[in-house]
Amino acid sequence: MSAQQTIHVGGEWRAAASGATREILDPADATVFAVVAEGGTEDTDAAIAAARTAFDQGEWPRTPVAERAALLRRVAELLQRDREEIGLLESRDAGKTLEEGRVDVDCVSDAFRYFADLVMNESGGRVVDAGSEEIHSVVVHEPVGVCALITPWNYPLLQASWKIAPALAAGNTFVIKPSEITPLTTVALIELLVEAGLPAGVANIVTGAGDPVGARLAEHPDVDLVSFTGGLSSGTKVMRAAADSVKKVALELGGKNPNLVFADACGTEEGFDTAVDQALNAAFIHSGQVCSAGSRLIIEESLRERFVGELARRAEKIRLGRGTETGVECGPLVSRQQLAKTEDYVASALAEGAVLRAGGARPEGEGYEGYFYRPTVLDQCHRDMRVVREEVFGPVLTVETFRTEEEGVALANDTEYGLAGAVWTADPGRARRVAGRLRHGTVWINDFHPYLPQAEWGGFGKSGIGRELGPAGLAEYREAKHIYQNLAPRPVRWFAG
Ligand code: NAD
Repeated sequence: MSAQQTIHVGGEWRAAASGATREILDPADATVFAVVAEGGTEDTDAAIAAARTAFDQGEWPRTPVAERAALLRRVAELLQRDREEIGLLESRDAGKTLEEGRVDVDCVSDAFRYFADLVMNESGGRVVDAGSEEIHSVVVHEPVGVCALITPWNYPLLQASWKIAPALAAGNTFVIKPSEITPLTTVALIELLVEAGLPAGVANIVTGAGDPVGARLAEHPDVDLVSFTGGLSSGTKVMRAAADSVKKVALELGGKNPNLVFADACGTEEGFDTAVDQALNAAFIHSGQVCSAGSRLIIEESLRERFVGELARRAEKIRLGRGTETGVECGPLVSRQQLAKTEDYVASALAEGAVLRAGGARPEGEGYEGYFYRPTVLDQCHRDMRVVREEVFGPVLTVETFRTEEEGVALANDTEYGLAGAVWTADPGRARRVAGRLRHGTVWINDFHPYLPQAEWGGFGKSGIGRELGPAGLAEYREAKHIYQNLAPRPVRWFAG
């Protein structure tokens, strides 16, 4: 594959039919570090046709489960073989630290292993008791068909794996369109799928823009399912585009995630230190460009001064820089647009009365030529502010306060999203009560951010439709079929004539 042949269709690497290319920027210094093919409608149609043929006529949907699982495990091994190289590429492309890039590769390997194990441990179709010896009834689960997979730029490889691994485990074929901002590790993953022995046409990739490539995938009648991870506004467009052909739609969208801290969690020095430390991690890891970022700190009023003071002090000490440099804790934002959007949200918050406790500006000096922004803590925030309601997707933490448990829960649920949230308390009864009342797809008690491949991930409300990971994350890529067999057929005589 040459540098610009990043489109993979029917087993062949190619350039865009139009010959167009796109420059990929290093967000740490805004210089070009790779060039990829800029696919268009023609490339997308060709990729869908290849996936369609591979599904309708190819061997993959009918390959024994044990062989499919073995291939997924091989991919996990190849990822580990190339861990350093791919981790570095992810760090460079998405602007995250090298260590985060490595962890991402490990999590991707885990996803491939998890779905391999899941399909291997299934017991086949479910026999249904039809109430008669003469009827044999069984429900089986079959691959849904050609899957369109559309992914965002913040966790490019990880989000791709949460779709590719279950899609392949279930026996589907697919076309993936990675974010045009960070396509490189997804291209590398397709290379590994090919190396692992996946038949031609099963895995296809078209690098290019959301419109036309993503839009075409969403609307195309030969695509059976579209699984999208990205922002709310693109997600609603995907859903509309998919409507005419009534394809299955799975959406993993944004979040505005509450981190609800009760004073009793900070009753000891250790408890206080842990809650502050995790609030920092919740909001600022990967410069806040995380769908489940704990960007809303909702804290019991009596704790506010001490907690926010310490949080702001530590936020100011977070070491920014190029993700590959030793000692760097946070990289840049991914693009100029993301930086401008963050600056705009902070300006609007300050105009609406928020009080700046940390950050609020780009860092100055050498080494910050890229899209850096200082971790920002905004105190005295309230629900009428745009910065509290909308997803910033940058290193911006807002602080709201509550006096009663009822009020805290109400604030935490007062969002149109519902992806994730946390409650910090030393009271087990309160922990269970509050976790039960939070309307979010993942609820952490005294923790923030961990996920498990075996547990479903997804959102309530406008955070999405459907689930990734866990058994439900595999079920997304399947159709249920009821096979009803009459062992003693005879006329029904409904009609007399
Ligand atoms: P985005 O919506 O701008 O882009 C996501 C993908 O959709 C990209 O590949 C893009 O090219 C494509 N796209 C854009 N317009 C399209 C269209 N009209 N039709 C089809 N595809 C189109 O999102 P982003 O900025 O890349 O990612 C950030 C967003 O992703 C945030 O909102 C974040 O919360 C969300 N996200 C959610 C999860 C989750 O698990 N829920 C995980 C990661 C990111």
